[in-house]
Amino acid sequence: MTQLEAESPTVTSLALAESLEKWFGDPGTESNSLNFSSALELDERNELPAAGIDRLRRFGFNRFFVPEQLGGNLRAAEDILMLTRAIARRDMNVAVSESTQVWMMLAWIGGTPEQQAKHAATVLQGGVIPCLAYSEPEHGADLAANTFRATPDGGQYVLSGEKWPINRGRTSTHVVLLGTTGDETTPAKRQQSMFLVDRSTVLSGEVTGVPRVPTYGLRGCDISGVAFDEARVDSFARLGAEGEGLELALRGLLITRTFCTGLSLGTGDTMLRTVGDFLSERVLYDGPASEIPYVNESLASAYLSLLVAECESLVAMRGLHLYTEQFSIWGNLAKVQVARLVDFSAKALARTLGARYFMRAHEHVGTFQKMYRDSAVVSVFDGSEPVCMDSIALQLPALAKAHGHDRDEDWRPLYDLRAELPVFEPHRVSVFGRGRDATFASLPALIDRLAALTPTAGCDAERLATLRARAEGLWDELDALLARVQEARRTPADATATTSAKTTSPALIRVAEELSALHAKVAALGIWLFNRDHLGAFFADGVWLEAALAREQVHQYGTGDLDPAAARTLAAEMHRQRTAGEYFSLLTVRMAAPGAPEEGGTDTPASPPTAA
Ligand SMILES: Cc1cc2nc3c(=O)[nH]c(=O)nc-3n(C[C@H](O)[C@H](O)[C@H](O)COP(=O)(O)OP(=O)(O)OC[C@H]3O[C@@H](n4cnc5c(N)ncnc54)[C@H](O)[C@@H]3O)c2cc1C
Repeated sequence: MTQLEAESPTVTSLALAESLEKWFGDPGTESNSLNFSSALELDERNELPAAGIDRLRRFGFNRFFVPEQLGGNLRAAEDILMLTRAIARRDMNVAVSESTQVWMMLAWIGGTPEQQAKHAATVLQGGVIPCLAYSEPEHGADLAANTFRATPDGGQYVLSGEKWPINRGRTSTHVVLLGTTGDETTPAKRQQSMFLVDRSTVLSGEVTGVPRVPTYGLRGCDISGVAFDEARVDSFARLGAEGEGLELALRGLLITRTFCTGLSLGTGDTMLRTVGDFLSERVLYDGPASEIPYVNESLASAYLSLLVAECESLVAMRGLHLYTEQFSIWGNLAKVQVARLVDFSAKALARTLGARYFMRAHEHVGTFQKMYRDSAVVSVFDGSEPVCMDSIALQLPALAKAHGHDRDEDWRPLYDLRAELPVFEPHRVSVFGRGRDATFASLPALIDRLAALTPTAGCDAERLATLRARAEGLWDELDALLARVQEARRTPADATATTSAKTTSPALIRVAEELSALHAKVAALGIWLFNRDHLGAFFADGVWLEAALAREQVHQYGTGDLDPAAARTLAAEMHRQRTAGEYFSLLTVRMAAPGAPEEGGTDTPASPPTAA
C-alpha cells in the first residue's frame, strides 16, 4: 500500500498517530512508560497507570479536545479517532481515563462564548480531569427519571445527590452533570439542566467521591461515583438554558459515541496482533500454528472485520464534519456496529488462541484477556447497545419516510480520503436528524459508480459482476428493512402490551440491528470506490470488499465461510502488516518500531505534527 499523497485530514491524522506512536515507543519494551507488561501488572493491582497517563499528557493530548476555533488543536474528528486508537491499543485504562476530556465538548455545544473561552483556556492549561456524571444508582439508562437536584437560589444553584457509576468520579477536577431544575409542573423532558462544575470553585457545601467499584475490565480505572451535598455553584456553571439538559446530553453523546469507535479499533488491533504473533511462532504439526487452515481463516476473518470497522469509523468521522445534523441515527449506528465487529471477532480469536486466552500472566499472552475484558466496555458505557438500538428504532419511521427522497450530491468528500473537509462544528449536532443518513442516501450513486468501472488485472470482470450484484442487493435489503418498519408499526398493541413506559417493539430493534450491519457494508463500498487509485493493490483488487459484502450480518462469520483463496489473501496481508509493524488497516500507519524507546525525553511536542 502507498501512503496518501495529498494533504487532507486523513493524511495529517495518520501523521499524528505515527507521531504519538513514536512518543510512546514500542509497548513491548518494558522501559517505556506505557508498555503491555506494566499495563497488565497495574491492572491486576487495580491501579491507575500514572506513568502512561503522565506521558500522554506531556504529548499535549488535552489540546486535541479543544477546537482550533477556540485555540486548540482539534482540527479533524479523525485526529481523535487515530489518537484514541494509538492509546487504546496499548492500554484502555489510559485511553478511558484521559479521554474524559472529551466531555468538555458540552461547552462547545451548549456554552456561551464566555463559557467556551474560559473552559478552552482551562483545558489548554492541562491537568483537567472532567467526568461525565449522568448515571444515578437508581435510574441507569432512564436519564429522564434522574432525581439529582439543582435548586436555583439567588442567581446560584444548590446541587444535591449522587451520581454512580462514574468513570473518574472520585478523581475528577470538573463534573459535567445533569441536575433537576424543574418541578412537578415542568414536562419530563425539560426537568433537567446541564452543569459543568469546576470542583475547586464550589462556593459552599461538599463534593465528595463515592468509593470505587471493582469491575470486570478497566480494573485500573477510577470507576466510582461523585456525591454533592448542598454544593453551591455560580450560575456560570450551567450550560445552555434551564430545562435544556437532556437535549444537550443527547447531542453530546451522539458525538462521543462516534468517537468510541477508536477504542474498539485499538483493542481490536492488539487482540488480533497478540493472537497472530503467538500462533505464528507456535510450532504444531511440523509448522506454524497460523498455517493450520482453521487458524488461517480465523485470523483472516478477524482482520476483515477490523477493515470493515475502520471503514465505518472513517466515514463516520468525515460525516461529523459534513453531515453533523444527521448524527442522531449515525452516531448510534457507528458505535454499535464497530463494537459488534470487534466483539464478535474477540470471541472467535479467544477460541483460536486456545488455553492462553484464560491465562493472565504477561508471558502467557495475558495482554489478550485484558484487552478482551477492557474492550467489552464499549458496548456498555456511553449509551449501552440496547439504548443505542432503541434510539435508532425510534427514528426508523422517519428514516423510512425519507428513504428514496434524498437528493443526489457529490459524495466524494464523504468517501475520498484525500478530500478536504469543512470545519467540524460540534454545536450543529441535533437530537433529531429527520431520518436522514448520508451513507444510505449515497448508495444509488455508489451503485452507478460501480457500474461504470472497467475490469483490471486484479479485479476482473467476474469480481466486478459479483460486487455489482452485492451492491444492488444492499439496496434491496435497505428497501426490505424499511418496509419491515411499517409492518412492525402495524403490530397490534396487545402484542406488545407492557407495564413499562418504554414500548419500542423488539421487531423494530431487530430492524435497527440489521440496518447497523448494512450501514457498515455501504461505508466499505464507498471507501473502496473512491480510493481505489491510491491505496495499493490489496485495497484496489477488492477481495476484502467482496468477502465483506458476502457476509449476511457483516460482523458475524462462521467456520468455512471464507472462500479459501480470499482467506489466503486476507491472511497474507494481515501477516504483512503484522511483520512490517503497521496497524491492521486499509491505510499505512506505522507503529513504533520493535524495541523503540519512547521518543523526545521529557519535552512536550511543541505543536501538532503535520504530514511529512
Ligand atoms: C465501566 C463503566 C463506566 C461508566 N462510566 C460512566 C460515566 O462516566 N458516566 C455515566 O454517567 N455513566 C457511566 N456508566 C454507566 C453506564 O453508562 C450505564 O450503562 C448506564 O447508566 C445504563 O445503566 P445500565 O447499563 O446499568 O442499565 P439499566 O439502566 O439498569 O438497564 C438495564 C437493562 O434494561 C434494558 N434497557 C434499558 N434501557 C433500554 C432501552 N431504552 N431500550 C431497550 N432496553 C433497555 C437493557 O437490557 C439494559 O441493560 C459506566 C458504566 C460502566 C460499566
